[in-house]
Amino acid sequence: MPYSKNISEITKIFATDAHKGLTEAAAAELLTKHGYNKLREKPKKTLFARVLSQLSDVMVIILLIAAVISFVLAFLGDDPEEFFEPVLILLIVVINAVMGVMQESKAEKSLDALKSLSAPNARVIRGGAESIIAAENLVPGDLIHLEAGDFVPADSRLVRSQSLKSEESALTGESVPSEKHWDAAVPEKAGIGDRTNMVFSGCAVSYGSAEAIVVATGMDTEMGKIAGLLEGEGESATPLQQKLAQLGKYLGFVALAACAVIFILGVVDGLPILEMFMTAVSLAVSAIPEGLPAIVTIVLSIGVSRMVKQNAIIRRLPAVETLGSASVICSDKTGTLTQNRMTLVKAYPDDGELLTINPSENTDEVNRLLKYGTLCSDGSVTVGDDGKVTHIGDPTETAIVLAALEGGMSRADLNTEYNRVTAIPFDSDRKLMSVVVKDKTSSDMLVIVKGAFDILAKKCVAGDIAKAVEKNEEMSRNALRVLGIAVKTIDKVSAEPAPDELENGLTFLGLVGMIDPPRPECADAVAVARGAGIKPVMITGDHVTTAAAIAKQLDIFREGDKAVTGAELDEMSDEQLAKEVEHISVYARVSPENKIRIVKAWQADGKVVSMTGDGVNDAPALKAADIGCAMGITGTDVAKGAADMILTDDNFTTIVRAIKEGRGIYANIKKVICYLLGTNVGEVLTVFFAMIIWRDTPLVAMQLLWINLVTDSLPAIALGMEPVEKNIMDQPPVPKNEGVFANGAGARMIAQGAFFAILTLLAYYIGEYVLPVSEAGAVRTGQTMAFFVLAMCQIVQSFNMRSMKSLFKIGFFTNKNLNKMAGISLLLMVFVLFTPVVNEIFGLLYLTPELYAIACGLSLAPLPFMEIWKLISNSRAKNKK
Ligand code: ATP
Repeated sequence: MPYSKNISEITKIFATDAHKGLTEAAAAELLTKHGYNKLREKPKKTLFARVLSQLSDVMVIILLIAAVISFVLAFLGDDPEEFFEPVLILLIVVINAVMGVMQESKAEKSLDALKSLSAPNARVIRGGAESIIAAENLVPGDLIHLEAGDFVPADSRLVRSQSLKSEESALTGESVPSEKHWDAAVPEKAGIGDRTNMVFSGCAVSYGSAEAIVVATGMDTEMGKIAGLLEGEGESATPLQQKLAQLGKYLGFVALAACAVIFILGVVDGLPILEMFMTAVSLAVSAIPEGLPAIVTIVLSIGVSRMVKQNAIIRRLPAVETLGSASVICSDKTGTLTQNRMTLVKAYPDDGELLTINPSENTDEVNRLLKYGTLCSDGSVTVGDDGKVTHIGDPTETAIVLAALEGGMSRADLNTEYNRVTAIPFDSDRKLMSVVVKDKTSSDMLVIVKGAFDILAKKCVAGDIAKAVEKNEEMSRNALRVLGIAVKTIDKVSAEPAPDELENGLTFLGLVGMIDPPRPECADAVAVARGAGIKPVMITGDHVTTAAAIAKQLDIFREGDKAVTGAELDEMSDEQLAKEVEHISVYARVSPENKIRIVKAWQADGKVVSMTGDGVNDAPALKAADIGCAMGITGTDVAKGAADMILTDDNFTTIVRAIKEGRGIYANIKKVICYLLGTNVGEVLTVFFAMIIWRDTPLVAMQLLWINLVTDSLPAIALGMEPVEKNIMDQPPVPKNEGVFANGAGARMIAQGAFFAILTLLAYYIGEYVLPVSEAGAVRTGQTMAFFVLAMCQIVQSFNMRSMKSLFKIGFFTNKNLNKMAGISLLLMVFVLFTPVVNEIFGLLYLTPELYAIACGLSLAPLPFMEIWKLISNSRAKNKK
């Protein structure tokens, strides 16, 4: 067992090197032998299973029943032409199922592509060089490097570790992170939880860092053994899709009920039963929006890929809809609202003056601060031959290192003077970093601590703290990020010192202040968010005065707002926080737990909260938020794993843009739903009232299917691709559970349907009773007129539905996709109306020029109707405001 062996045995077994790792060639060979390092996924649904699941939809079943009825009718009848209808219905059902399957596979593929964008990476050392590769390419024997926040990519035996802790609840159920040490002796029989010199695939590194040799990959890992076949993170349907599925069932029942009413009515009246069946079939077909579910999926997936281009990767589809309702954005400061490009500008040596950094004039005291600051940093800078400066590591640290370098002290020189004995890395909970170094000329060791001054000050026993507090405030007011530096000498230190051992009894040395300018685009994004009724809130680990100063520059912090520290927040009761939360726009020196409270307080107020995060400890807050946004660049795997959305550029502006897109997608889906359902309302009313008035069927099943699936669907897809409306961010967020039919959309849809029904019935009446082409063809003339008018009205209506603004304002033909799709629909209409045989199949005939003119006139009527409707409802909305 790898955990019961020592490192030299391990390197022998795996033919690797504990410092240089495998060679690339050996790794490639091992990859072909062991396969990819990933868990086997549940086999994908077969094509047959997919088609079957499409066919089991309630709507489709009703269609199939309709086909069977119509088939029986044809069989009983004596006209072979009657077989066209059931065959066509079946054909349409099949085409619909195939299209559905194709859509499903396409959506799955684009979601897979999305997943691969956020697939885990691993830092591997091969041939002595470290690089980042996809975790699935790891092989047993690989040497990997782990940092806090990483997911462990494969079961590995530690070869070096510093203060390592790993959270293994997924494997052991133990939620407290377990301490790990490369040197721990573990007996052969130890359980997983006791194998403290190992880390396991899928668990998170919660603290410290390590290097380890991979001993098992893929299904051979402990996770692989218990997971068996991975279910995959099955994409859940969005709330809207769930509601639509519900609506589909509901409509199915409405259709059946309507059929029953018509049927009883007909039988009571003594109409032939066969004819009644025909009408019932038409009614069932007319009530069901056959194309709707597929189109909603298409619109969603188009929207999601559009968001990727704008630097937002959606990890969970329902987030797209939630985004549209976001009403509070809680954002980190450093790197998200600011550039994270730090420049050291001020220094304050203890008991001296606040000085501006100027490399050629730095005093000895300032140089001493810079020297100790550099020794207590892991970041480094290199200056190329062309004078270009490259920063490697934490910008807070590289700012200090660069200032030291410009003052004549290079890191390399300092390393020859001092040896680092040990270090406790910076973490946002402690807000301090400590190192122990040894001057090569003396036997004593020096502890250097740097970090947030207010915390460091409490650990100091010497130095003029009162004066430093003033200087700290002065720099912070000018939006500078301030770090304190303090030291002490010691004569011994334990192998892995705890923070308490080093961070006390210090002598304060001074402060350094650095600027981190706001991102220039953020002020505009804040203004857009405010205009959209979204409250921006800054949450940062930085000092409260610095945070407030930057928040002021960005207009996040306004006159009368409050800036609160994490400590003050801890003092507040939940009731107090609930009362205050609306007025607090800056939270400083926060802990990750504070973030959860802030999210909950806003949510209790009914707000939809987006929260950013990058560290391991941010994961619970990201999960608690309605929209958790992880940083793509600086974020840890753990934060990304917990998030709904990843910002690939770590930028606040991206959140605002994603909200805009989210609103746009939601608005478009709403348009599509109302558009398509409006047709169904029109069809049901037409068939129902024609039956009541004339005991006739004005539209046969085939014609209805043609409209629902062909002439309607194409414009609907284009409607779903309508560019985001310009004024979408001038409106308040959509309330959380607001239905699709809110704000008059439902009324508009019913009005649309009713109006179309009137037009269609009128067309039918004119065709059959006023100007029939021939006596024998009277019913067909009526049906051709009804079909023509209803289908054309829908094409016209697709333009009306683009916006609640007048078409004269937004321009008739400004959605190019819609022009194309409407054009194709029109051509298809011409095709069925005028192609011999085809028009026969559809039960149509050639009309007289007079009738064509009337039909065209009726078809254009929705245009003025909707313009007037928009005018009235817009002026009503204005008055309400
Ligand atoms: P945000 O949450 O907005 O990203 P932040 O980056 O300012 O905020 P932290 O990284 O938690 O938050 O930093 C908090 C404080 O810790 C800083 O104000 C600074 O004083 C100190 N600090 C930051 N980086 C280091 C570091 N590398 N070494 C020592 N102290 C640091």
